[in-house]
Formats: sequence, structure tokens, C-alpha cells
Amino acid sequence: MTPNITAAKTALSHLDVEENPHAIRTASRDFFWYSPVLKARMDHLLADFVVRPRNEAEVIEILKVCYEHDVPVTTRGAGTGNYGQAMPMRGGCVMHLVYMNQVTSCEPGRVVVQPGCLLKDLDAHCIAHCGHELRMFSSTWATATVGGFVAGGSGGVGSVTWGQLRDLGNIIRLRVVTMEAEPRVLEFRGEELARVSHAYGTNGIITELELPLAPAYDWVHCFVATKDFAAAMDCAEGLANEDGVLLKIASVYEAPVAKSYFQRVSPHVAEDDALVGLMVAPQSMDALVTFLTRRPELSLIYRSDDTDWPRNPGLVFEYGWNHTTLRALKFDPSITYLQVRYAYPDHNALIEKMRATFPGEVLQHLEAIRVNGKVSFAGLSLVKFTTEERLDEIIRIHEDAGAQIFNPHRYTLEEGGRQHSDQRQLSFKKEADPKGLLNPGKMISFDTPDWDYAKIYDYPSMTPKEA
Ligand code: FAD
Repeated sequence: MTPNITAAKTALSHLDVEENPHAIRTASRDFFWYSPVLKARMDHLLADFVVRPRNEAEVIEILKVCYEHDVPVTTRGAGTGNYGQAMPMRGGCVMHLVYMNQVTSCEPGRVVVQPGCLLKDLDAHCIAHCGHELRMFSSTWATATVGGFVAGGSGGVGSVTWGQLRDLGNIIRLRVVTMEAEPRVLEFRGEELARVSHAYGTNGIITELELPLAPAYDWVHCFVATKDFAAAMDCAEGLANEDGVLLKIASVYEAPVAKSYFQRVSPHVAEDDALVGLMVAPQSMDALVTFLTRRPELSLIYRSDDTDWPRNPGLVFEYGWNHTTLRALKFDPSITYLQVRYAYPDHNALIEKMRATFPGEVLQHLEAIRVNGKVSFAGLSLVKFTTEERLDEIIRIHEDAGAQIFNPHRYTLEEGGRQHSDQRQLSFKKEADPKGLLNPGKMISFDTPDWDYAKIYDYPSMTPKEA
């Protein structure tokens, strides 16, 4: 199946097609370079052209034309994904949804929106029009799209209260276009949502989302410092378990992350301070102070409603989730990271064990999350990278100890997830993308069903030929 790029471009030339080589290269990349493993293998990937649809009808036209001419299509929200999700493994067309950014309707409890809307703009719209806000968003709130979050993300700010995107109730409805001779438009709810959410656009293009909202608050951003890492974990978990306290984020950073990597926090902490970052609803602030008064080992060093640091630290969530890695990378380019699930009820003991296993090599950064009603931690540990072999060894040691790794140094759905195929996503891909043209190379079970996961999946185009 040889793509006929020229024919596809000619047929789409009345749309907003980008030809500028620099713009095409920019639109072919995401934050894959967070991973030295992916950086070494994916840097060369390049689309043949970029097209920016203005509405669903143009999405349908692009998919129909590309299907006819066997041209792969990789969809792009804002390209903030970390695993090369939005990078075109076989070139072809990058479909950038930047213009599809309208909020269709908004009422207390729910919003309907096009996929290219930035999370920040969506939040602002909801607050202005109905006094409600997004329950959950990626820490890339300022730069990422809502479609990219649902297709490529997993949870984030808000997960301490609301769980993760895949949990029941966190997505209401998705409208999806298929990649066939005559693309279909389908509406998914309930069980069907799992077919396309977190599927990297491999089996359908989301053209509209309906999401739940919650009452909006003027959140108070707080930092708590302590010399005792266990007390920091207890602070985040304890507050998340306080039924009357409303939180949007509770992050824990082992010393010396705050001193070394958080520039505006650094003057206010010592080298041996662990830090807790919190977003607390204003009506819960009295409760927070009471909680901290009961624990003298914890000090509230910053609250955005009442502290005047010479340099404002900004939004606390822009220190959390994958922003921690970004901040650390600015100071130490050798840093990379892992994504770890420390499951309830043994999470704290397991974290302490991993902390003791890699002194100076792996620094703990934890995010409190609610999983089936129980609070535990997701780890986005900072790792001093030396070699791929050592990184794999660190991963193996975590897994042997019982910590589940979602490997951020892999670009496929399976390797970044639970290392087995998702039958719902696979069977929908077979139906909705029979030629395998949507974001090729990202679903192993479609290309190579008997892959054994012992080594990195080696899609033919992944490593440049000369390497
Ligand atoms: P893109 O990167 O453009 O796309 C992501 C994936 O979705 C790609 O596979 C793309 O092909 C596909 N896609 C995009 N739009 C559609 C569509 N309409 N239909 C079908 N497929 C589509 N992730 C989290 O989950 N939580 C976090 O807190 C978080 N924090 C981050 C912090 C930093 C500093 C960085 C760099 C990344 C972070 N991420 C996080 C990862 C990423 O930012 C999020 O997943 C983000 O929401 C992706 O949005 P995007 O618009 O950039 O999507």
C-alpha cells in the first residue's frame, strides 16, 4: 500500500494545507524528547503535509481523501503528549485541530465542546457562563487541548477527588469519525467510551466531547514544607481522605526537588525539605490550618490568598504532574522520569522501599489520586538517566517489588499501559480503520498481535535507517 501524497494534497488543496517545511516539522513533534529513549529513535519523524480542518465536515473530507489515497493520518491537538503519541510514524498527513475550538453548550454540570479547545479556554468559558469548571485537567491546562487530553492523557489536576479519565462518569459522550471509504459519524456513551478514549487517535477522530463539570472555586494554592518525607505523604493522603475538605491537587516532592528545581520556591525551603503542593477550596482553608496545627512537623509556607513572596510562585499545579519533570530538566538535562502506580493499601511501604533502593538516582514525586474511592499515589519519579539498560533495570526492580509501571519511554498504547492489548480498542480499530491508516505504529496488537513485550516495539520507521 503506497500512499499517493500528491493526489491527496491536490484533492485537499482548497482546505488550509500547510506546506512550509519548518511548520510541518513543528507539527510533527510533541514532547517525546522528555524520554532519552524516544528522543534517540523518533527525532527524524516528519509528516508530508499538515491540514487544519475548520469543522467536522472537513474532518470527514480529509479522512475520506486520505483513505482513498492510502495516506496515514495522525491527529494533533497541541502536541504536548510525552510519548510521541502525536508523531507521524509513517509520515503522511498531520491533521491539526487548532480551529475546532468552539464550546457548543454549557450548563451547570456539563459542557459540550469541540476537540481543539484549549483546557484553559474551556475552563474560563464554563466559569463565565455557568459558574462551573472542569473537574479534571492535565497540568498542561494552559497549552493542551481537551481532545488531546481525552485521546492521549489519563488524569491529572482533579484526580485526587474525581479519579481518572477512564473512571465511570468522567466522560459523558464522544462523537467520533471513522477512517473508511465513507467515514461514519458515531456517538459513544457508557461502555463504548473506552473504545476511543486514551486510544491516541488510532481508531477514530473525536470531533465533539461532552464532559461533566463541578461548581467553580477560587482555589487557594498552597505549599507545605517538612523535614520528614513520610509526614509529607501523610499530609497529602490525610487531607485527601478528609471527607469535608475539598482539594484539586495534592503533590509530594522528596527533598531536594523543591530546593533544586523550583526556582521561586527555592528561597523559602532548605535542601532537606520535602514539599507538599495543594489546591484547596477557599471554604476548606480553615480545615487545612486545623489539620496542620495537629501536625507540628508540617509548615504552611505559602498560601496564595495570604502570602506575598517577592516572586509569585504561580499556579501550584504547574509544579505537579509532568510539570515537575519539565522544571527538573531545566536544571539538569540528564533527568528523565517514570510513571508508577503505588496501589492501595500497601502504597506507602512500597514508596519507602523504592526510595531506599535508589538513593540519589530516583527522586520521589507523588500525586495523590482516588482509585475506586481509595486514596493512593501515582508516582512520576525523577530519574537520573545513565543508560537505557539501567533505566530498564530500575523499571524491573519496581515491577518485581509490586509497583506497576506505565512506561513513558515507549510510544505504543500497550507498552505505555498494562502491556496487553485492549480488545475494545483493537476490535473498533479493525472496524473503523481497516487500512490501518490512523496514527500507524501505535497499537501493537493491530500490527503484530504476537509481540511478547520483552523488548521495545520496533516499528519499521521508528529508528532512522543510518542509525
Ligand atoms: P496531543 O499531544 O496533540 O495528542 C495526544 C494524543 O491524542 C495523540 O495521540 C493524538 O493523535 C491524539 N489526539 C489529539 N486530538 C485527538 C482527537 N480529536 N481525536 C482523536 N485523537 C486525538 N497528561 C495527563 O494526562 N495529565 C497531566 O497532568 C499531564 N501533565 C503534563 C505536563 C507536561 C509538562 C507535559 C509536557 C505533558 C503532560 N501530560 C499530562 C501529557 C499531555 O500534555 C496531555 O495528555 C495533554 O492533555 C495532551 O493534549 P494535547 O492537545 O497536547 O494532545
